[in-house]
Amino acid sequence: MAMMYRARASVGNVTSSGVAPVRGRWYFALVIGAFLLVAVSALVESSRSPATLHDAAAGFWVLVVLAILADTPVVTIQRPRAMPTVLTSITFCYSISYIWGYGSGRVTQAAAIVVASIFARRGFWPTLFDIGRYGLALATASWVFTLLGRPRPTPSDAADLIGVLVAALAWYVVFRLLTATGTWLCDGGTWARALIRDAPVEALSATALLLLAPMLVLLVYTDVWLIPLILAPLFAVSRMSRYYSEQQERALRDQLTGLPNRLALSEASEEPLRRCTGPGAGSGIAALLVADIAQMGRINDALGHDVGDRALVAIGRRLGSLADSRTLVGRLQGDEFAVLMWDLADLDDVLDHAARVRAVFDGPVPVDSQPLTVHVAMGIAVCPAHGTTFDVLARRAYTAMERAKRLPDPLVVFRFDQEMPSADQLTLLDDLRRALDEPGNHEVVPFWQPQVDMATGQVIGVEALLRWRHPTRGLVSPEHVIRVAEHSPVMRKITMTMIEQVLAQLAAWRSDGLVLRASLNVSVRDLYSTDLVEWLETRLRHYAIAPSQIQLELTESALMSQTVAVLASLRLLRRFGAGAALDDFGTGFSSLQHLRQLPLTEIKIDRTFTARISVDPPSEAIVRAVVNLGRELGLRVVAEGVEDDETRARLLADGCRLAQGWYYAGPMPADDLVRWLTARAARTSRP
Ligand code: C2E
Ligand code: CA
Ligand code: CA
Repeated sequence: MAMMYRARASVGNVTSSGVAPVRGRWYFALVIGAFLLVAVSALVESSRSPATLHDAAAGFWVLVVLAILADTPVVTIQRPRAMPTVLTSITFCYSISYIWGYGSGRVTQAAAIVVASIFARRGFWPTLFDIGRYGLALATASWVFTLLGRPRPTPSDAADLIGVLVAALAWYVVFRLLTATGTWLCDGGTWARALIRDAPVEALSATALLLLAPMLVLLVYTDVWLIPLILAPLFAVSRMSRYYSEQQERALRDQLTGLPNRLALSEASEEPLRRCTGPGAGSGIAALLVADIAQMGRINDALGHDVGDRALVAIGRRLGSLADSRTLVGRLQGDEFAVLMWDLADLDDVLDHAARVRAVFDGPVPVDSQPLTVHVAMGIAVCPAHGTTFDVLARRAYTAMERAKRLPDPLVVFRFDQEMPSADQLTLLDDLRRALDEPGNHEVVPFWQPQVDMATGQVIGVEALLRWRHPTRGLVSPEHVIRVAEHSPVMRKITMTMIEQVLAQLAAWRSDGLVLRASLNVSVRDLYSTDLVEWLETRLRHYAIAPSQIQLELTESALMSQTVAVLASLRLLRRFGAGAALDDFGTGFSSLQHLRQLPLTEIKIDRTFTARISVDPPSEAIVRAVVNLGRELGLRVVAEGVEDDETRARLLADGCRLAQGWYYAGPMPADDLVRWLTARAARTSRP
């Protein structure tokens, strides 16, 4: 198996991608076939050498030595991280073939390839394939020489020149066809794409290298010691082609893990996806699985980016071991990996394969011989049911994955009700941006929901909840707004708009004699840097609002992976006196850890616990435990989603005093809140 993985490093230039060829059996057949053909043809050809080795023996050995050194650091100076698209040694081997026959040319070429491969640490199969494709190209050129009336030791007239040109062309055609077929069998994608990939630069290099050969041939017979001078132009050509290879390499392969990157996956997916959607699509279905490592941010923050990188490499290697002729593994970006699977029978088959991916994360990943437990969220989209192109499948697998992050089950299959039509989403995002940019925006506003001390009935604060009054769609729910905006810069605008409006409202209420404490929801991304909190401080000063009147709420599940990143923001927030609440407490994974690490002032028990408190003893036990925990840690505990009197009474009995919920009031516009407060005050002051 291990050998097979290395084979993937094949035709292209990588040395250790750890990925098996897409069409493994055919690829190996091609490699072995090409190699055998070279061996056999060399035997046949060698008997017809135009010159014997005794002719110009010094020249022969100079060419052999230069051929072998041409692609090693001795001549290239740099370590050959990437092999050039065309090896420089072909100039020498082509010359040797011309003068002394294909047999010697082939042996020299094979030796040069082996030496270059050792320096570039290429695997067995890529090296064998190189011997095959360079050898067959040379064989073809050599047949052309013979066909055109060679052997003649030196090119000496126009006919010879044409012969050299035609043979070079034949060399290139065979080389290109073999390379393209190898790339296609190895990396997937279409044959046509493999045929044109790299072709221009390869053609340029091959022409430059092969057409230098006639000069060499002349020098062999005139002045052998001038031959090394030819190294300078060869060096230039080889640098150019090596540089190009590296660029290509970078464009298609993830530098850290050596796995195919998004572009490579997308190209390789074309054919499998076409197969399951094309006419007579009888070859089953395909699926794209996207996996996101949940606490990568935390690993980076706590153990350093080096360790994080090594963890990704280790995970990449494990995932890479799943690759086979129907499975391709790649890294999309950061902590996101993708597994493309095809030729699957049905959804059960997809899930079976997904279970293999899942099993990769079962045990801890050893990093620097330390076991690291990683949690993943995985989303799957199926072709053709959910999309027929890589981009659409990726987007939908992401949607499913985002959902998995919020559920106990780490693997979620996409369903259409998880997303809105994407065009719609974009228009909505545009509308949102426009609404936020409008001076004196009236569409995006806070609604206010009171928080009440259940024992005394006193209002202890309000939570500002975003409402968007869309001109044609009506009220858009905040969850919908956040989902649309979450990964765009609009999210930051929303937060700033909310902060600005909340502070302006608090200032207005204060001049009417009403002082309230307000909570605001922020996205965890808002706190990755301290900018937002710094800006909040300047706005508080601008409105002359006491920082203790403001609290930021962060959802626990969002915090999961980024605790350390937001720590600085929370510390700053607390330093100037504002509060921080952990929202939806109990829905994330590492709650107790958060309580210990973060400088919080409040925990909000998620309404899934509150709602079931009177029917579900475990929920009640959790609520009771959280209340005690809050007391011990000196944190305010607020129960969310109190909808009825029974829940209220139960909470009070369990020691929870503060609540928020429809039982008291739902979120409402500012004016309604004032009326509600006034009515309530009138009721409680009545004798
Ligand atoms: P949340 O922070 O957990 O807010 C509480 C949600 O519970 C609100 O939903 C509120 O209307 C609802 N709610 C209040 N009392 C009850 C009740 O008794 N029963 C039930 N079933 N629900 C109740 P809403 O306003 O739809 O907000 C949904 C979520 O959207 C919020 O959940 C919060 O995570 C997010 N959100 C709202 N405004 C903002 C904002 O300005 N910025 C950010 N980043 N997120 C916001
Ligand atoms: Ca909240
Ligand atoms: Ca909440």
